[in-house]
Amino acid sequence: MPELPEVETTRRGILPYLENQTVRNFIVREPRLRWPIPDELSRVLCAAHLRTIERRAKYLLFDFDRGTMLVHLGMSGSLRLVTPGAQTGKHDHVDVLFGNERLLRFTDPRRFGAFLWLDGEPLQHPLLRALGPEPLSEACTGTSLFERSRGKKIAVKQFIMDQKTIVGVGNIYANEALFQAGIRPATAAGKLSLARYEKLVAAIKSILAQAIVQGGTTLRDFVGGDGKPGYFQQQLWVYGRAGQPCKRCRQPLTAIRLSGRSSIYCRNCQR
Ligand SMILES: [Zn+2]
Repeated sequence: MPELPEVETTRRGILPYLENQTVRNFIVREPRLRWPIPDELSRVLCAAHLRTIERRAKYLLFDFDRGTMLVHLGMSGSLRLVTPGAQTGKHDHVDVLFGNERLLRFTDPRRFGAFLWLDGEPLQHPLLRALGPEPLSEACTGTSLFERSRGKKIAVKQFIMDQKTIVGVGNIYANEALFQAGIRPATAAGKLSLARYEKLVAAIKSILAQAIVQGGTTLRDFVGGDGKPGYFQQQLWVYGRAGQPCKRCRQPLTAIRLSGRSSIYCRNCQR
């Protein structure tokens, strides 16, 4: 599933080719995504001028002169630039052709992605309004998480995966960040000290930033050819390694389930 670093890498990969370009054509081959692609999109996008592409959580916000197109990659979606006339595959559901002959193609086998049109202030849209801070922003600090966590009995892992607490911490990143910070995933969020939240936020920031830097090496995959944008693999310390020896202390890693998600940790390194 595309996580925040992949979405950010997509944004960086396509932006230089599409910024300040005008839409020439918008083609929908399959409107049945997570929500139906609104009919009005092809009308409002006709000759629309794209100012820039921004990102909020895992949503891409295409900022046009007349409104915002919101795109979500869902479970299996990807966006890449292809040559106009490139053969279409079964899962190539949407094409946006720009005046400079760049064709932005949306491919999504599982069709959980989304294309929506937003009038007005995009950040006030119901999907975006209640989102917590961006992990890499200055608004996201150990103090802000610490304060929000007071009195909360839910597991710290669930707490940091809640998009209202902080956005972009998927299951893999939550497992890895808790290992790096030495915190057990099932610990009650309200029980952790400020110092431990500071460690945890530092770990989240460093893991996500590292993934984005790594993604930078795949930027060229977003342009041309049949190459699918690669969702990058990071060095994983705990995720997917249940029962295997901890890479730090060699004790076998423990697996538990928290709200249905696999949670792997080291009983020796995480307290
Ligand atoms: Zn260990």
